[in-house]
Amino acid sequence: MNYRHAYHAGNFADVVKHVVLTRLLDYLKQKDKAFRVIDTHAGIGRYDLSSLEAHKTGEWQGGIGRLVDASFDAKAAALLAPYLAAVRSLNPEGGVRKYPGSPLLARNLLRKQDRLSAIELHPKDAARLKTEFAGDFQTKVMELDGWLALGAHLPPKEKRGLVLIDPPFEEEGEFGRIVDGLVKAHRRWPSGIYALWYPIKDRKAVIAFRKALKQSGISKILDIEFEIRPASSDPSLDGTGMVVVNPPFTLEGELQTILPALHKLLAVGKPAHWSLEWLAGEQVPPG
Ligand code: SAM
Repeated sequence: MNYRHAYHAGNFADVVKHVVLTRLLDYLKQKDKAFRVIDTHAGIGRYDLSSLEAHKTGEWQGGIGRLVDASFDAKAAALLAPYLAAVRSLNPEGGVRKYPGSPLLARNLLRKQDRLSAIELHPKDAARLKTEFAGDFQTKVMELDGWLALGAHLPPKEKRGLVLIDPPFEEEGEFGRIVDGLVKAHRRWPSGIYALWYPIKDRKAVIAFRKALKQSGISKILDIEFEIRPASSDPSLDGTGMVVVNPPFTLEGELQTILPALHKLLAVGKPAHWSLEWLAGEQVPPG
């Protein structure tokens, strides 16, 4: 386990992933009924952007660094507000020195009836996460394999909520593991919302992944692709992807507003594109 998210926290991929996460949570909060968030690869929760690790890559400067003082039109600003408010709450002095990872963002948006299960396998990271949430009875931190947790913790007793799957993609076959894990999880809890992050780096692997999802039998899958530059000759993170199973009916429309606004700020090379595509079961809004 060599992957350390501290080098990448707040980069463009984190921004897109975390904005999607906040939109999903905002939707879940529309009903009073309690929900649970299960974060299967949680990281440490709070990142110091002045650390040696963050400084070494400087990735956050091409991500959250471009957003903090940017202005957006009213519609995009309203949709980005929960995300930016969570980031600003860690930086009361202005600017951005601290960045919230997925469990901290999720926790920020929970109401008193909601719960968070944060799972992290790396012993040091799990220990830091336990310290971060010490004494918080709404959050349970577990040092566990997130893939196993997908089997053991579904469905949650609330029967409402979201599973975030955000593996490090440091091992061969991670795409295949995601599809297998998702199909198994979906069988145990077909009505849950699942959000899976993936890198757009190895294009062949992405094409095979999307094909496998189309053939998975899962009935509602929205795929988000967000590239910041055209394909590089050497493998590098040219874009970020996210697959959402059972997305709220509001999500696609919201992303039609959010993604172009983010793309304007985050794209560095042309042509770079963003897209939304139903891999299964285009959603018809109710009414
Ligand atoms: N979700 C976090 C966020 O958005 O702030 C970032 C997570 S980072 C991309 C992936 C994390 O997964 C790392 O902290 C790594 O230690 C952890 N990890 C790797 N393999 C794991 C496994 N099998 N189960 C749970 N966590 C794992």
